[in-house]
Amino acid sequence: MPIATKDQYVEMLKRATKGNYAFPAINVTSSSTANAAIEAFAECKTDGIVQVSTGGGAFASGQKLKDEALGAIALAEHCHQIAAKHGILIALHTDHCQAPKVESFLTPLIDETQRRREKGLSNLFSSHMFDGSELPLKENMDIAIALQKRCIKNDILLEVEAGVVGGEEDGVNNEGTPAEKLYTTPEDMVEVARCLRETGPFLFAATFGNVHGVYKPGNVKLKPSILRDGQTAVKKAFGEDASLWLVFHGGSGSSIEEIHETLNYGVVKMNIDTDTQYAYTRAVADYMLKNYDQVLKIDGEVGSKKHYDPRAWMKAGETSMKNRVIQAVRDLKCENRSLLN
Ligand SMILES: [Zn+2]
Repeated sequence: MPIATKDQYVEMLKRATKGNYAFPAINVTSSSTANAAIEAFAECKTDGIVQVSTGGGAFASGQKLKDEALGAIALAEHCHQIAAKHGILIALHTDHCQAPKVESFLTPLIDETQRRREKGLSNLFSSHMFDGSELPLKENMDIAIALQKRCIKNDILLEVEAGVVGGEEDGVNNEGTPAEKLYTTPEDMVEVARCLRETGPFLFAATFGNVHGVYKPGNVKLKPSILRDGQTAVKKAFGEDASLWLVFHGGSGSSIEEIHETLNYGVVKMNIDTDTQYAYTRAVADYMLKNYDQVLKIDGEVGSKKHYDPRAWMKAGETSMKNRVIQAVRDLKCENRSLLN
C-alpha cells in the first residue's frame, strides 16, 4: 500500500504527537521534484507527506491547460506508482485552497477520490487543505464543517487555517497583513476545535508569526508559545485528549531551536517549499556554470548532448533537493519512523 490509508495516516500523526516529532510536507510540482521527495523519505526509512498547491497543479498540467485540479491528479497518480516501490508510506496532500477555488480545485479532487473508491481503488489524496483564513472565523468554519463532512465520508483528512500566514507563496499574497493577524488566538483555536472535533480528526494550521517565503534570520518573529497557549486552552475546554494536530507553515529561515520548540506543542506536519525550491535550483545553477561550454553551443562548436540533455541537470537538482528533504526529516526528528518498518 503505497499511499497511506486514513487509518495509517491517523496512526502516523498520533505517533508523531506522542513522540514529539513531525513529518515534513514537501511541495512538488513535477515528477522530478516528487521523486526527490519520495526518495528522501525512503532513504530515511520514514513515512512522509507530499503536497501539491493549486499553482503546482496548474504547472503540472502544462502551460497550455493550466488546469490546477487535472495537474494535481496527474502528480498524485505518479506518486501512487512510484511510492509503491519504496517500502514506506506517503500521505498525499493538497496545499492552500482558498474559498474561491473550492469548486474548481477541492471539489473535483474529492470527486476523483470518490470515483476511485466506488471502483474499489485507494484514495487519490489522503488530505486536503481548505484555507479560509482570510474570511471571518464563522464563515471560515461554515465552509470547513461542510468540507470536513464530505472528506470524512471518503476517509480524507481536512487541514484548516485560522489566522494569517504572512508573505507570498504561489500567488497567495498576505504581505500587507497587520502584525496582530499573524498570531492565532487561544479563543480561535478553541472555536476551531469546537466546530470540527465532533466530526472527525483534522489538521490545523495555527499561525504564530509565520511568513511564507524566505527571510534573513531575525526578520521573522516567531512566537511558538502561541501554540502552547492555544493547546492549553483547547485541552481545558475539551479534555486532555483534545489537543490539536498542528501544521507549521512558512517555516523557511526558522532556527532549529524554534522548530524543536514547536514539536513540543503538537506540531506534527511542517510544510517545506522555499528551502527545497532553492536546493533544486542551486544545484542546477552550479551545473550550468561549471559546464558552460558543454550546455551551450559556443563559437560554432556543437556543445555536448550528454550535458544539455535536461536529464543531466535535473538529476543534479533532484539530488540536491533530496538532500534538503533529508535534512528536514532530521530537523523534525522523524528518521526511521515508518509504520512499515
Ligand atoms: Zn502555507
